Amino acid sequence: MTRTAGNLVDLTRKLVSFDTINPPGQETDCMEFAAARLEEAGFCCTRHRHSDTRFSIVATRGTGDGLPLCFSGHLDTVPLGNAPWRHDPFAGDIEGDHLFGRGSSDMKGGVAAFILACQAVPRVRGGVAVVLSVGEETGCDGARWLVEAGALPPAGAMIVAESTDNRPLLGHKGVCWLRFRVQGRTAHGATPELGENAILKALPLMTRLATFDPEASHPIMGRATANLGTIHGGINTNSVPDRCEMTLDLRSVAGITHDELRAGLERLAGPEVRIETLLDLPAVWSEPDDPWCARASAVVAEITGVTATPEVANYFTDAAVLKPAMGNIPVLILGPGSMDQPHSTDEFVLISRLIEAQSIYEALLADWTGAAD
Ligand SMILES: [Zn+2]
Repeated sequence: MTRTAGNLVDLTRKLVSFDTINPPGQETDCMEFAAARLEEAGFCCTRHRHSDTRFSIVATRGTGDGLPLCFSGHLDTVPLGNAPWRHDPFAGDIEGDHLFGRGSSDMKGGVAAFILACQAVPRVRGGVAVVLSVGEETGCDGARWLVEAGALPPAGAMIVAESTDNRPLLGHKGVCWLRFRVQGRTAHGATPELGENAILKALPLMTRLATFDPEASHPIMGRATANLGTIHGGINTNSVPDRCEMTLDLRSVAGITHDELRAGLERLAGPEVRIETLLDLPAVWSEPDDPWCARASAVVAEITGVTATPEVANYFTDAAVLKPAMGNIPVLILGPGSMDQPHSTDEFVLISRLIEAQSIYEALLADWTGAAD
């Protein structure tokens, strides 16, 4: 193993060794460790506290002569799941090319690769910015808090180091979860005529939601979809239910806003139905012929030997929150994790992909310097 590969493996294993399972999201120690490594690489780190126990980091280096290139990553992970793990999820076990651990793919490996790339390329014209967030897995909470605090750095383009097998992806669908509440009036189950049965009232809406078609599509993202995910009504068999609730999972595409979708569903549901938004993350899309996206994709292809075809991720990322708040800059989702590994039992990242990712990030930093000339 070369010295660089050794550093990268060590750093990934170190980040994996912190238990940052979210919830509850105890990212502080891991964040402090990452901040120290960024400071060693010449970054000025600002910790933005969201609560007594949680903070995200915005780090910048060498800004002043143009806009920086920004790297984005999150340090929380999903829970381990119910299935037993063969490997200790926090040990960073290595078997051949595999490095195991919760968060190895999603996305501590990516974070390690860009920290070391920034260290290896100390001078970047235009500068470099890093946004390290907490609470991504529960709906981009940390990124949202950073936006609310006005803490985001200026940047000219952004790389989100999520799991893509080192393929540059142009975005992902949006997600909007809505809860519909139909109200009735309760009564004893033996005298249903005295009540107003909320389940019965909700039936027509249930059918309409189950067959709802957002009628939007995108040449690369495909069709927007809707899924009626849950129905809850009534408390016990011998009462007339006074409430029936349904939740709908909308996956949107670029070109249609969640406000438009919600307005259509409000008309469909009628004025009596209360609609509540549970999650609202817009679609992310960067044009493949955006000058930076095109150039960066060519840089990646030169290293991986794989020519990029326009494609998108099937998960959401912090870019849903960061991209619109940072002036809709071009974004590539590009990281060493395997596309099928996030949230899996015995999650792993391939060491060869980690090393390749660091080379890619270094090349993109060098390209950024060239672009600023
Ligand atoms: Zn992730």
